Amino acid sequence: MLSLKTLEKILKDEPPFKLKQVKEALFKHLIGDWNEATSLSINLREQLNKEYPLFIKSEIFDAKEEMVTRFLVTLDDGLETETVLMRHADGRNTVCVSSAVGCPVGCLFCATGKIGFKRNLEAMEIVSQVLLVARFLKKENERVDGVVFMGMGEPFLNYDNVIGAVYIINSNDGLNIGARHISISTVGIIEGIKKIIKEPLQINLAISLHAPNDRLRSEIIPANKKNYLKNIMESVDRYIEATNRRVMFEYLMIDKINDSLKDARELVELFNKMDNQLFFVNLISYNPTGVFRPSTTEQVKKFKDYLTKAGITVTERQRFGRGIKGACGQLAGRNIFSAK
Ligand code: SF4
Repeated sequence: MLSLKTLEKILKDEPPFKLKQVKEALFKHLIGDWNEATSLSINLREQLNKEYPLFIKSEIFDAKEEMVTRFLVTLDDGLETETVLMRHADGRNTVCVSSAVGCPVGCLFCATGKIGFKRNLEAMEIVSQVLLVARFLKKENERVDGVVFMGMGEPFLNYDNVIGAVYIINSNDGLNIGARHISISTVGIIEGIKKIIKEPLQINLAISLHAPNDRLRSEIIPANKKNYLKNIMESVDRYIEATNRRVMFEYLMIDKINDSLKDARELVELFNKMDNQLFFVNLISYNPTGVFRPSTTEQVKKFKDYLTKAGITVTERQRFGRGIKGACGQLAGRNIFSAK
């Protein structure tokens, strides 16, 4: 989808209220064709259909029993990216968006990392993923309640477009989704954490930690070689001081790789060095992508108990979408999707 600047350019000779009407039709009424925007003149509708088409090409893979719908989105240049709708037990609907086609980070546990990196997404290409799901839910009289940047791509390696998208998703004349319901998950790109401190946004920050020391972390997350744990934890401390917002540390539970009690002890030591304790740990059941295996239930329990006894708040992430390869770390595009 084209940028909002293009839309402004198309409407530059129209009175200012027209842009407001157009944005309302796009983001509030969630139209999929300008002919549905009956408040606009027929001429303008025709022009917009020609110069700013709203169609978003996608294939839908629904796994209702798993409370997940996966959208394979075809971009204007023919490349494909993925978006996942997660329906929570309490009725909330969260969209997991991608910020790139593929990912340059290449984490060993991640299917996206394996397909390499094609390109970053533009801000409106990210927003259009939320629009796509919002239009889909509208048919069921439901809405998007939250957005998480946990799909393909490392959001802070595409900072400007990701933040540009967040402002549109959050703004009153955009999708109007509360900042507190928007989360960005990063493997710990320090530049990005420093930058986001300065944004006047109340969004949530999640750090994909997945290892308690640099040795193991650099093995499974190559980006760690440029963003060492000590520096990541320091920048998270500064983030908490500046925003007073609670940070989530995500920790994938991978069998015999990072799930021993020694790992748990090292993790506690790492957290004890922080100045601020405004955080919690989210243990994520690993979704197999061919390399590793998920930790056993008993091991997850032991690990969780150890952290809890050390005074750390621990949650466990609900499993979403394994069956349709729409779960965390499994987004890998059409080829891997059909091959598995
Ligand atoms: S886990 Fe995130 S940062 Fe790592 S390769 Fe996958 S998409 Fe990229």
